[in-house]
Amino acid sequence: MARTIIVSNRLPTKVRRTDEGLAFAPSEGGLATGLGAVYQQGDNLWVGWPGTFLADEAEQNQVIEQLANDHMRPVFLTEDEIRDYYEGFSNETLWPTFHYFPQYAVYQPQLWAAYQAVNRKFCQAVLDVAGPDDTIWVHDYQLLLLPQLLREALPQSTIGFFLHIPFPSYELMRVLPWNRQLLHGMLGADLLGFHTYGYMRHFLSSVNRLLGHSNQNGMVEVGQRTVLVDSFPMGIDYDKYATTAASGEARRLEQEYRQAIGEDVHVVLSIDRLDYTKGIAERLRAFELLLQTSPELLGKVTLLMLVVPSRDQVEQYKQLKEEIDELVGRINGDYRTINWTPIQYFYRSFPPEELAALYRLADVALITPMRDGMNLVAKEFVASKTEGRGVLILSERAGAARELSDALVINPTDTEEVARTLHRALHMPPSEQQQYLASMQAVVRRYDVHNWVEVFMNRLAYIKIKQQVMA
Ligand code: UDP
Repeated sequence: MARTIIVSNRLPTKVRRTDEGLAFAPSEGGLATGLGAVYQQGDNLWVGWPGTFLADEAEQNQVIEQLANDHMRPVFLTEDEIRDYYEGFSNETLWPTFHYFPQYAVYQPQLWAAYQAVNRKFCQAVLDVAGPDDTIWVHDYQLLLLPQLLREALPQSTIGFFLHIPFPSYELMRVLPWNRQLLHGMLGADLLGFHTYGYMRHFLSSVNRLLGHSNQNGMVEVGQRTVLVDSFPMGIDYDKYATTAASGEARRLEQEYRQAIGEDVHVVLSIDRLDYTKGIAERLRAFELLLQTSPELLGKVTLLMLVVPSRDQVEQYKQLKEEIDELVGRINGDYRTINWTPIQYFYRSFPPEELAALYRLADVALITPMRDGMNLVAKEFVASKTEGRGVLILSERAGAARELSDALVINPTDTEEVARTLHRALHMPPSEQQQYLASMQAVVRRYDVHNWVEVFMNRLAYIKIKQQVMA
């Protein structure tokens, strides 16, 4: 029986070491929900790293056994591999380059060597379980070399690849050493998926300029094989967000928060992982400008800012954290009163019911990344607004802006525009809010994560048939 094997850097379950031994918990993120329906079916499987360094063979065996019950197969990484492949090449070379921050990128041969070695390690882990008829779906920037490695070992297999971050313009790719090897690695897949048409065009342009392959309607001839390149904007589990937001618990929490903040105070919500791509400092400056230019809003608007800790071992992230702490401290110091705090700042993650209550509570969601592959928070906010009130302000450089064109779309670098748009959002009549929300909800509901999986899988089957017909 042919199976589907999902491969990503992280498994949907993460292992933690506690005083009582190893603990297993679901990983954050939408991918696990979206692909849950796939990997838990039949003999399907998810291959990936369980998120913790496990040196001890007994611990490793325990993890292998436990995860096998839930259709998962762990790839164990050494501490050096975690540092060089994951924190190093993935997060300090590829991440900044692909998000248009080349000034943050490091180019070190030993990180590249670790990246290649770990991609080979993942390849071996897949080969341990995969047969020639299986469908393998590889995810994201940590595993760009894996499709070609698999292709060499299993020439007839069906391989899909999806990139969850932006694919940058050729001008960024040309700066990156090893660019040709990376593109070649990706082209081992039969189908390459990106969130937006723009990312897909950038990829095709790099493939053309760096490898000399042209394309026709997204089809690239690689040796004897036709590779299809297409865009598949990832969705969320709409029903789950709408249901959680409408639940009694979310309503109760919303009321509790509302009482604490004040009945007549507008709430502007911002939620991101700590990352320089998210435009957090720029957003704070825009909020400060709003307070400076709109004195009537003093005491009447609060920015609820959630920053989820992330990659805090990396220097740029530490610096960003300090910059945010300072800005929040300064703005609050300048403007706060005994009974009003302009910015309520939380540096931690929140459980789903509390997030749902915050989405309900917010009058405005302020999402201003400099670059973002998709931005699921924007879609979650839209899905959670079951009462039809709320305004989404969204950066033009988030992938989500392509579908959510009824948001107030802004240039996040333009502080004045962001402040002006915030002002407009806070004064938008309810009927207008409702109209924009309804049209965005229709899009987010229809193109949900289940639809995303289905469309990707159908395209993968399509290109395999097409290859056979053309052979
Ligand atoms: N999120 C979470 N806990 C929090 C805050 C956010 O699990 O305390 C989730 C949020 O609901 C969303 C994800 O983290 O699903 C962030 O995804 P997004 O695409 O917006 O950004 P990324 O972090 O992947 O760059």
